[in-house]
Amino acid sequence: MLEMKILRKTEELHEARWWSAEADGRVHCYLCPRHCHIHPGQAGFCFIRVNEGGKLYSLGYAAPAALQVDPIEKKPLNHFLPGTKIFSLGTAGCNMGCFFCQNWSISKSKSDQSRAQHLSPEEVVRLAREHGCPSIAFTYNEPTIWGEYVVDICHAAKEQGINTVMVTNGYITYEAFHDIYDHVDAANVDLKGFTEGFYGKVTLSHLQPVLETLEHLKKETSVWLEITNLIIPTLNDDPAETRKLAEWIVEHLGTEVPLHFTAFHPDFKLQKIPPTPPQTLDRARKIAREAGVRYVYEGNIRSEGAHTYCPKCGEVVIRRSWHEVMENRIKDGACGTCGFEIPGRWENPKGKTPVGAGRGGVSGDYRTAGGAAR
Ligand code: SF4
Repeated sequence: MLEMKILRKTEELHEARWWSAEADGRVHCYLCPRHCHIHPGQAGFCFIRVNEGGKLYSLGYAAPAALQVDPIEKKPLNHFLPGTKIFSLGTAGCNMGCFFCQNWSISKSKSDQSRAQHLSPEEVVRLAREHGCPSIAFTYNEPTIWGEYVVDICHAAKEQGINTVMVTNGYITYEAFHDIYDHVDAANVDLKGFTEGFYGKVTLSHLQPVLETLEHLKKETSVWLEITNLIIPTLNDDPAETRKLAEWIVEHLGTEVPLHFTAFHPDFKLQKIPPTPPQTLDRARKIAREAGVRYVYEGNIRSEGAHTYCPKCGEVVIRRSWHEVMENRIKDGACGTCGFEIPGRWENPKGKTPVGAGRGGVSGDYRTAGGAAR
């Protein structure tokens, strides 16, 4: 029986939050808008939340499948502690079904198919400190589905003065939203397209809940927010769609939320679609700036669109090459040339960077993400 195989893999089952019991031993998981109704012995759509004996358990708890020290620009976050390292982890499973997933080897695996290892929240924070990371990222797969682990890591991180970051698809219910985001310092939310057709056909989910999450983040929390739109040729690269996306951001979130247009490369079920031409990202950036978004970036390519420009004097205030910060001319939160205030968290809000010399891969017995995207 598949479900027994899943359960045997887990040393100790961790009871989930955000569920209620139903008739016939079924459970209702209301952590994300899928609202799975799960029979005994079965898992939800995300693979890692299972009904065992009429209770819901999280197989993702303390079971990361990928660990890596990344530059924070890889998440991407360009206005949150630029040039720092971020301790990054992800588990198996996902609550979306994106055909273009760039981390599909873990996001599409069940927990018994990934090389998960036991790592308590306190151990995650200890590793982050040992590697000199002022922040921890919940990333690689969708962290909402292991929200219990996220929250406990956030508590442990706060005690040690370490920041926490969600790299997320934004697919979460309002019932669970504050339980998680009230503990998080920053988020990069994927806005994967701007039509329900794209979300339905290519991600097997819906657009509206993601838009609601973005509004809740901006209006109801102090989380530092940036947005990423991965542009895929022929699927979501229509300039009219990009314009609507940018106009929605300006109208609902304001002009100061940084927006990243990133390049697709053929992966998972979309092997036949070519990489995004740089010109498409240039065009998208131009459209978004015309719509009023002040900080627009191009990612996954080498481009002048990777830099942060001052909206007032036009000078480069942060110069980047790929994920590396080459020059940072922010002074006291403002442009070093004209003094115009640039929004962001430029000083560590939790104080000093923890001590540690590690770089790149995670050392010791822990496995790494092996080059996983974001
Ligand atoms: S978190 Fe997983 S089990 Fe829960 S509703 Fe979403 S897909 Fe279903």
